[in-house]
Amino acid sequence: MSLLTITNLGMNFDGFQALNAVDLTLSEGEKHAIIGPNGAGKTTFFNCITRHLKPTTGSVTYWDSELTVLKPHQIVKLGIARSFQRINIYPELTVFENVQVALIADHGQIFNMIRPGASLYRDEVARMLELVSLSDDADAMAGVMSYGKQKQLELAVALASEPDLLLLDEPTAGMSPQETIDSITLIGKIAEARKLTLLFTEHDMNVVFSIADRLSVLHHGELIATGRPDEIRQNPEVRRIYLGE
Ligand code: ADP
Repeated sequence: MSLLTITNLGMNFDGFQALNAVDLTLSEGEKHAIIGPNGAGKTTFFNCITRHLKPTTGSVTYWDSELTVLKPHQIVKLGIARSFQRINIYPELTVFENVQVALIADHGQIFNMIRPGASLYRDEVARMLELVSLSDDADAMAGVMSYGKQKQLELAVALASEPDLLLLDEPTAGMSPQETIDSITLIGKIAEARKLTLLFTEHDMNVVFSIADRLSVLHHGELIATGRPDEIRQNPEVRRIYLGE
């Protein structure tokens, strides 16, 4: 049985077909990249999976749960987490507090958000920070850290809900070459350690080929190819459309 089964997924914005009849299945533990030029529909695809958008057609099944009828927070509860292209952390809280708040929210303890107290989830926060190599930055104000470290923190926040499936929207966008290498190494390491299934969009082909087991190519909202990196590299349609050959 597949972890995620997407069938005939379509998204129409006032007559503009941003996604059209997309079919895709993901196996447990797979690291799957979605590639395609700007405007191809990658973010829309993610938004339809996590129900930040309601798709016009089709279904998204996670194990045996139909996601298109759920709300984003119910989807998180099923074990699906995501990051966004835009940094999505609290800049005026410390690194520690950002992860702590994510844990409190995940446990539904809203009243604890007002004054969490330093000890709440201390060990869990420490574990998350160690996982993303931010233990030494626990007391730093999140907003003043480097962009690369803010993305690491975002990863810790996403991991706080203990997901099985993690969606990352351009995890290395805006990073320096060194930050990109560090970040990809980290993501690969975490995915292995936590047996995560990873679905990510990415522009940088070196990144894609270094961590993806399989990838899919979106073009004008249509999924034109899915396969292993070596298969995609050889695909004449992909070479023509995406690599400009
Ligand atoms: P990508 O992530 O591959 O760059 P997007 O999913 O962001 O592509 O966008 C796909 C297409 O859908 C683009 O042409 C974009 O302008 C359009 N689009 C995305 N969101 C909306 C929206 N909320 N309303 C109308 N058009 C949208």
